[in-house]
Amino acid sequence: MKMDWQRLALALLGWLLVDQAASAAPNVVVSVKPIHSLVAAVMGDLGAPVLLVDNNASPHTFSLRPSDAEALQNADLVVYVGPDLEAFLVRPLASLAQNADILELDRAPGLSLLPVNERILAEFGEGDDDHDGAYDMHLWLDPENAGTIAAAVATELEKLDPENVQVYEANLADLRSRLNELTADLKTELLEKGSGRPIVYHDAFHYFERAFGVQSVGAVTLNPEIATSAAHLSELTAIVKANGADCVFVEPQFEPRLAELLAAEGGIATIEADPLGSQFPAGTGQYEQLLRSLADAFVACQHAE
Ligand SMILES: [Zn+2]
Repeated sequence: MKMDWQRLALALLGWLLVDQAASAAPNVVVSVKPIHSLVAAVMGDLGAPVLLVDNNASPHTFSLRPSDAEALQNADLVVYVGPDLEAFLVRPLASLAQNADILELDRAPGLSLLPVNERILAEFGEGDDDHDGAYDMHLWLDPENAGTIAAAVATELEKLDPENVQVYEANLADLRSRLNELTADLKTELLEKGSGRPIVYHDAFHYFERAFGVQSVGAVTLNPEIATSAAHLSELTAIVKANGADCVFVEPQFEPRLAELLAAEGGIATIEADPLGSQFPAGTGQYEQLLRSLADAFVACQHAE
């Protein structure tokens, strides 16, 4: 009789341990906030991914903190856009994240990539080996790409955590239908309210422009690591003076001085438009808030004075 109880207790303990192991989701580390939001949506209640570039940091100028290094060491999966965006991750991925699967999104199957704007390449291309002939890395700003990214993330998670395939698939389907609704909503909003033509701060908005049929007329800089030349500035000033721009976008990650100067030249306003959506709390809703804020910025641009 005593033996039976012991066996039962052991069996119960074994079942508890196995069940716990099965329900532990992979440790996932994600570089930037909008991608983090998509990963969080795919993981749902199974776990929360770690975000590297938080607050007002920019992936163009980021440096790793000790806590980030630790997260990379413990990671089962690291999701980032690619070495052209997160140059800061290239070495840590090789040295710290040796046990992790690496998902580089600019290589995700089915993703629609845009080349770096030629206008800007002509200006900056020669001295900038990192971006010479490369693709525009702000690829999350097209909601169709967001769906493709989420699918690539789900495939990786399912490989690492096959017990939860159905959960990941259900979360992915949910996210895709929310993305479709969001896209339809924003298209309607922009059609009804119209949109202005901004000079953007850094050349990050092409995917959004293509997806929603809006247009920017210049960028203060291709990559915030590179100083803007005097020639480029006077080109932008000419656009502003000829009433070719309705507003100038500023980003919280960067000094607004040049944007403010340009806006003052033409008596137009500066409007905040952040391609990372830094001001919105990290999590599943962040991506939607980001896209809505950009649509609002393009709408506000036409009325700005
Ligand atoms: Zn950028």
